[in-house]
Amino acid sequence: MLKENYKKFYDEIQSTIEKSRLYTDKLRNLAYGTDAGFYRLIPQIIIRAKNEKEVQKALILANKYNLPVTFRAAGTSLAGQAITDSILIVAGKNWEEYDVLENGDVIRMQPGIVGARVNQILVPYGRKLGPDPASINSAMIGGIVMNNASGMNCGTHENSYKTILSARLIFADGTVLDTGSDESKNNFLKSHASFIRTIEAMRDRVRANESLADRIRYKYSIKNTTGLSINPFIDYTDPFQIIVNLMVGSEGTLAFMSELTMKTVVNPKFKASAMIYFHDIVRV
Ligand SMILES: Cc1cc2nc3c(=O)[nH]c(=O)nc-3n(C[C@H](O)[C@H](O)[C@H](O)COP(=O)(O)OP(=O)(O)OC[C@H]3O[C@@H](n4cnc5c(N)ncnc54)[C@H](O)[C@@H]3O)c2cc1C
Repeated sequence: MLKENYKKFYDEIQSTIEKSRLYTDKLRNLAYGTDAGFYRLIPQIIIRAKNEKEVQKALILANKYNLPVTFRAAGTSLAGQAITDSILIVAGKNWEEYDVLENGDVIRMQPGIVGARVNQILVPYGRKLGPDPASINSAMIGGIVMNNASGMNCGTHENSYKTILSARLIFADGTVLDTGSDESKNNFLKSHASFIRTIEAMRDRVRANESLADRIRYKYSIKNTTGLSINPFIDYTDPFQIIVNLMVGSEGTLAFMSELTMKTVVNPKFKASAMIYFHDIVRV
């Protein structure tokens, strides 16, 4: 039995999303109550969203009834990022479209495409994704970027933060912002002027404090996925680029990402690995 506000949400969302993609039964709720981590939270309502309009509507209604929302791609998160006891929006299977651009140097994708599939698509171009988590055969690009997941090769020089170019984002109020489109950015500037001013003010405040800026620079020179990425405030000047890079590692807390464009990296034709032993850990 759904609690009052969830019941209202469930009744209203059916004007946009058919019932067959809204789960409230005990078995599926239990199944979606876990990710690859060891926590369990049983969602009240699961939405298998198909497009932006559906996510927009779900966010507007969730906002109206003050209900928390969590997004999920492949659900391979290890620390409970993809579970909730409220509303779970699953964006995997129906979000797999892509466009290879600039002869493979750039790729535009929906968030539900599996990382290894992207790399397969890029093979003929001698390119691959920068981020390389060990879960790449299952993890989807939306989850990889939102967790800033990375592996043994990409370090901090080819991770999602360094390779993301632009994104289409849906905010909690339902507004869609495409940072790759001048028209969308201009509309956003008009509708969300104070939002942009706040981002700029935060950027200027952080930069004016030299020791803080240096500390942020140092903290993010090594892998650092603790909390939100605050380095965009010192790495970028354009508020829209700050917004896009703030998304990386934000674990779905700032917006839904319905599309993203990334630079790809060279996929060397010949590779080898070696195990090297050192006498000590002191660098000379
Ligand atoms: C066997 C195994 C190996 C792993 N290896 C690594 C590794 O080498 N390196 C590493 O960093 N991690 C690793 N992980 C952790 C995990 O796989 C990665 O974090 C991965 O990126 C999660 O991707 P996913 O598609 O499963 O996303 P999910 O777990 O579904 O979601 C991840 C986060 O992204 C958010 N999210 C998903 N889609 C969207 C969207 N469209 N819009 C907004 N937010 C969204 C979710 O709310 C959640 O916070 C591993 C996990 C496993 C099980």
